[in-house]
Amino acid sequence: MQALALLWILALAASPPPTARTSIVARLDPAIHRIEATAAVSLDGEGGAAPVFEISARLAVTEALCDGERVAFEVAPSEGDPLLSRLTLRPGSRAPKRCSIRYAGEIHDPPSVASFSRETIADQTTGTIEPSGVFLSPDSGWYPRASRSPASFRLDVALPAGWDAVAEGSERGREPGSSGVRLVFETIHPTDGLHLVAGPWRRVENDHKGVKVATFLYPDDADLGASYLAGVVRYLDLYSEWLGAYPYDRFSVVENFFATGYGMAGFTVLGQDVLRLPFIVHTSLGHEVAHNWFGNGVFVDETGGNWCEGLTTFVADYHYRRQEGHDAAAEYRREVCRDYTNYVSEAGRDFPLSEFTERTTAATRAVGYGKTMMVFHMLERRLGRERFDRVLRRVFRENLGKKASWDTWREAFSKGAGEDLGWFFDQWLQKPGAPLLAISEFSVREIAEGRDPAFEVQGALVQKGGAWRIDVPLVLEGEGRAERISVELKDGSTPVRVRLPFRPSVLKVDPDQEVFRRLDAMEIPPVLSRVLGDPRALVVVDDTASAPVVAAYRDLAGTLTQSGMGEVVLASRLTREALAGRNVFLLGLPSGPLFRDLLLGLPLEVKLDKDGFTASERRFEEPGAAIAAVGRLADPSKVAALFWGLSADAVLAAGGKLVHYGKYSYLAFVDGRNQIKGVAKTDGGPLRLEFR
Ligand SMILES: [Zn+2]
Repeated sequence: MQALALLWILALAASPPPTARTSIVARLDPAIHRIEATAAVSLDGEGGAAPVFEISARLAVTEALCDGERVAFEVAPSEGDPLLSRLTLRPGSRAPKRCSIRYAGEIHDPPSVASFSRETIADQTTGTIEPSGVFLSPDSGWYPRASRSPASFRLDVALPAGWDAVAEGSERGREPGSSGVRLVFETIHPTDGLHLVAGPWRRVENDHKGVKVATFLYPDDADLGASYLAGVVRYLDLYSEWLGAYPYDRFSVVENFFATGYGMAGFTVLGQDVLRLPFIVHTSLGHEVAHNWFGNGVFVDETGGNWCEGLTTFVADYHYRRQEGHDAAAEYRREVCRDYTNYVSEAGRDFPLSEFTERTTAATRAVGYGKTMMVFHMLERRLGRERFDRVLRRVFRENLGKKASWDTWREAFSKGAGEDLGWFFDQWLQKPGAPLLAISEFSVREIAEGRDPAFEVQGALVQKGGAWRIDVPLVLEGEGRAERISVELKDGSTPVRVRLPFRPSVLKVDPDQEVFRRLDAMEIPPVLSRVLGDPRALVVVDDTASAPVVAAYRDLAGTLTQSGMGEVVLASRLTREALAGRNVFLLGLPSGPLFRDLLLGLPLEVKLDKDGFTASERRFEEPGAAIAAVGRLADPSKVAALFWGLSADAVLAAGGKLVHYGKYSYLAFVDGRNQIKGVAKTDGGPLRLEFR
């Protein structure tokens, strides 16, 4: 009996507060953009005697009942969002337990021109009902929403015959018929909103260890299904083992009728153009699957900043590179710091992590995804991989179906590390910027000769970007041996003294980019992001070429400056004075000593002549060929980039793609398709020292 009583008490203590529940019965007629629905919402009483909902301004509410009785209601424009209305029910004096709202109307908000890339995602639509497909996000107000806290849902939806649908939660039923199809979904864990996506797809569904893995594709793309199904299975296994059991009973890859790359609880919605990109299965798909643990399993409380994209980048994008080996992982971290230096700190667009909500530009991406990913990397270094992974698992287990904030992580990592990491989180979340390192007055002295020689290295590590508390790895190499140490920096200057059993010839500070920091110009290879991220760059248009080519360059210059890059000048008007102290992007290949000097530093892999060019020993002369290459200028902190197409078509086809290739020093295209890409070598810059 005692044991039973104890169990009963434990069960009471563990039962969570009741979550709100919304039950929707809807009928959609995509041909005329129409929805008719009734939503029954359970309320916790906190809304008081007059519960308030957000609902699409396009929908007309026809009836409201509270606890079984018809009640009065008011609809007014919403303050924040012109697409939403504020619906207030007036049930009388007492706070109702359950209200049901009947509504109908058209939701017809076709997506604006889609643009999807590594650098930016454009706003498209929060929801629309189209003859080609249905996409309804909670933000569209397709059902009345009382709060944005996680809630449970049941959806019973009727669609035309031949259609299929996906929503968060478990599919409880599907009844196809000649007059239409009816599907029922029910959430397993609370979710912070309900999406309804529908289309005349072909469904393919398999079972993997009790989880349904499915694709919902338009018939044209059915051949892509197999590789997506295999990819999902691989990622489910990876993350279930690493982070905890997969929290849903299905994962679906759903094709959208406009360009998106969204991840929802239990499914991802990819536009056709995205779905057809060959690398998506190896990168974005895994990222979206991983969001079922962080983002759509544990939700983000954005007060204090969005932690979730950086963590998902850590367990997905970064992890896949890390599986390729130590060097690939180090190169990924270098890219993150390079993007930050070029798009954020050099461009004057810095802000603290506590202010990140979502990526809208290359700069917000470099901070919210890149810097955050490095914060998790530095935590992993501090705790060790095993203890770090235990924290990830614990936070997932304890917060599934709830919102978590940076404070959740601060507490969990402090507990996992057995030390208060408040200083770490304060430093990386509240402060904008990043450390900037230099070395000062290093020397080597022989302190013992004979059979046991000994050498002493002395010097100082200097922080030029303000004082940060960081652990900086140093590597000393010589006589075929290497010694690795870690130095904790707190102040502007930290003395270093190391005793070695060999004579070192080289000192390298943080050669594998373990620390998130701003890079010195000499540490960064000349890459396209140097000019693409620079609001002061000079874009020089070759106006000596043929008229259609000049028009194509002007077009490109217009696009580049629109996306935040500098100022446009014509080659015939360019002076040496105008170039001083600026990064230059040369569109075209005008002749003359001024331009020859600009291009002296181009990578050795690239050779240009009047008929074409050679890149990585491959010759290009066809009219569709175009090249982009970046080299240092005489002032090594500045670069000159060249983009040259052998015809107007070549310029148009490749020009628009350059923004996707910011991390490369040279690129060759034919008819807009990339043929060759590479990064120029650097010598390590000022954080590498050769002892004499
Ligand atoms: Zn993401």
